[in-house]
Amino acid sequence: MDTTKEILKKYWGFDSFRPKQEGIINDLINGKDVFALLPTGGGKSLCYQLPALMKEGITIVISPLISLMQDQVSQLNQKGIKAICVNSGMSYREIDNALDNVRYGDYKFLYVSPERLQTKIFIERFKLMKIGFIVVDEAHCISQWGHDFRPAYRQIAQFHSIINKPPVMALTATATQRVKADIIASLELEDPQLIQTSFFRPNLSYQVIHTENKLGTIRSMLKNSSGNTILYLRTRKHCETLVEQLRMEGIHARYFHGGSSKKSELIDDWQSGREPIMVATSAFGMGIDQANVRQVIHAALPESIESYYQEAGRAGRDERPAKATIVTSARDVQVISSQFMDSFPRADLVRQ
Ligand code: ADP
Ligand code: MG
Repeated sequence: MDTTKEILKKYWGFDSFRPKQEGIINDLINGKDVFALLPTGGGKSLCYQLPALMKEGITIVISPLISLMQDQVSQLNQKGIKAICVNSGMSYREIDNALDNVRYGDYKFLYVSPERLQTKIFIERFKLMKIGFIVVDEAHCISQWGHDFRPAYRQIAQFHSIINKPPVMALTATATQRVKADIIASLELEDPQLIQTSFFRPNLSYQVIHTENKLGTIRSMLKNSSGNTILYLRTRKHCETLVEQLRMEGIHARYFHGGSSKKSELIDDWQSGREPIMVATSAFGMGIDQANVRQVIHAALPESIESYYQEAGRAGRDERPAKATIVTSARDVQVISSQFMDSFPRADLVRQ
């Protein structure tokens, strides 16, 4: 059998591993549960994709977003590796067919949303398959103490106990101590190998610009930009308004938020560089593998330090210099703290 280095070269064309990748891969091959906390762009996918190729059976990857699954599946297919995804847009018949293909067609990867795992058709079929291991991508979604909480992630352990208990790997770029403990407990990881690299991103420069003229500041940042840009705002309305304001200034940008239609077209246009500036809410970006993002701008304050690290971390995945900038005015702190307070009922109401 090929060594891990040979497989790396053969399928990915890379000559060497990134920090920690090799250790993680060896732990998985040796059948251990693994918890890997590597920065955005650190190369987490390869950590399970490579050992999966060396192991008998199919690897199930639990992933929170359709765009993310499709992205990974098409990248694997381009390497000639058989991978498929099952998402909420598919009919029962399509899912049935997909699972048949997986079983008889020698597939190596099945990407699936956590909600799907609970369904009977999955549980029945999985019992008949040889499963190499289970990967929980964006594992911070397990914890209500983290951001992007997804309740179905909490059912994964139960699912795991139904199908023969293969090794489990949890992956994320951000987890506080509390979230880390929650992930390990919820997934019932057994004596997991904890692998973590530094959060330091040497090619990113962080800055905060205080200004009472946000539009002017943003305009000049966008005019002088190369590569791709993501500009984060907190509401759908603000995204739409800013794109319109920029248009009047002669700057072309698109917006993306939870209510956008044709999301995959928007992502394609942005990724291909046809529309390099994306104005978006936090709905945009998770797991999108785009190397040449030169700047991430927050024109509204982010909701937490963890989300800031994730969002800003989308800049410079190609390891070349990139900027993460917060553009803020005096009012922002007031706005964010009142939004926070407004999300709670008043004390007298609770008492009542
Ligand atoms: P994340 O940790 O954010 O999930 P990805 O798995 O999407 O990161 O990888 C980010 C990028 O790094 C991808 O384009 C991938 O091909 C590249 N990459 C991963 N491992 C290596 C490596 N050993 N050498 C060079 N590039 C790598
Ligand atoms: Mg990833």
